[in-house]
Amino acid sequence: METPPFGNAGACTHCGYCLPSCPTYRVDNDETESPRGRVSIVLALAAGDLTPDEAGNALSRCLLCRACHLACPAGVRPGSLVMQARLLAPLRPTLASRLLHRITDSHRLTALAALVLRWYRKLGWQDFVRRHAILARFSALERLESLLPDPGPEVMFTASPPEASAAGRPRVALLCGCMARLFLPHVAPAAANLLVWTGCDVVVWQGFGCCGSPYREAGDGARFRRQARRTLRAFAAAGPVDAVLCDSANCAMTIADYPSALADDPDFHPLARELVAKTMDFNTFLLQKMPHSPLSGALPECESVAYHDHCQTRFELGIIEEPRKLLDMLPVPRREITPPGTQTACCGAGGEYLLRQPDRSQAIRERKLDAILATGADCVVAGNPGCMLHLQAGLRQRGARVRVRHLAELLWSAINKPLEPKRGTP
Ligand code: SF4
Ligand code: SF4
Repeated sequence: METPPFGNAGACTHCGYCLPSCPTYRVDNDETESPRGRVSIVLALAAGDLTPDEAGNALSRCLLCRACHLACPAGVRPGSLVMQARLLAPLRPTLASRLLHRITDSHRLTALAALVLRWYRKLGWQDFVRRHAILARFSALERLESLLPDPGPEVMFTASPPEASAAGRPRVALLCGCMARLFLPHVAPAAANLLVWTGCDVVVWQGFGCCGSPYREAGDGARFRRQARRTLRAFAAAGPVDAVLCDSANCAMTIADYPSALADDPDFHPLARELVAKTMDFNTFLLQKMPHSPLSGALPECESVAYHDHCQTRFELGIIEEPRKLLDMLPVPRREITPPGTQTACCGAGGEYLLRQPDRSQAIRERKLDAILATGADCVVAGNPGCMLHLQAGLRQRGARVRVRHLAELLWSAINKPLEPKRGTP
């Protein structure tokens, strides 16, 4: 077995500067759940002092959030090291994750399941199932069901993809993530409509299943490469585009890893590099295209907003100001979520972490929920469906009347027409 290059793990001085930044360490101050503890585990794995199984189990509770990367004065990157180590010791799939992947790996099954879920909520079955705890004996299903948001505003595609771009109009492909297609079907139409409104021709790109994000994070290299090739085939079929945008922050992070995952594949590696070169952060692109003036539309469903950062987007790409500048165009004030002790905080969703480590995931979320409620904002805005579902489920459990919305959804509301005020709990 070839040992992956574990970067500069040996440069760790055990100084501990990374400890306060780590959401898993802050749960119970356990050294093995800290960044420096994980660096030691990776080094022990590389030295053969731990078996892959032992190391894999010890590393399974890392969220891969990368908050520790910015905190480390020696430039050690514990989150990336954990991801490399998982290639030697992949996380085992759970029942809930198997069920979810069975659906999301196929775009047809995803579309069918999204339709079923839509009617499940519309016909009131969701209320009935939850009120009577019908799924209490099926923990995997109950966990998945608890993530379902309440029915949100419906948004239709009002812009059809043109056959050919008008001269001067950028032609962009909107990659619609599987979690949004499944659980938040209004996000893609809102994002597409918004892009058309800013003057783009939009190719809506849905027929690829899943981008492979869960497999990348679990260390399942074979399945990750399979999904990457599927996505690349869809990219090639979409025709020439000037930019590729993702409505889900996690998909953008995943695509960035395609070239290294397919480095030995001469058929797909050039295409992977082309896709990465064209992929732009959704917020950054939008900020360039939006008129730099306040949006005049009303937002009757919220009085103030707060932005929740997707960890990898913030810590890996450094995208912090862009979504906030976009929210500042809205006709409502923006509040900053400031958990005590750190600049920002993970919500505990962490891709499939919320399914694999439900107790720890919820313990991490509690701190974030406290910080959200302390802002007084009645709408949390985010760009990653996993975070949105996890936060909304937590807010619902607390009985808080705070909605969670995708940034594209809220901007489009302010541009298009006021949303109908919702009744009852969000
Ligand atoms: S990972 Fe970096 S910050 Fe953390 S203990 Fe090691 S050297 Fe210090
Ligand atoms: S990636 Fe996140 S959870 Fe993992 S060690 Fe770093 S700060 Fe902790």
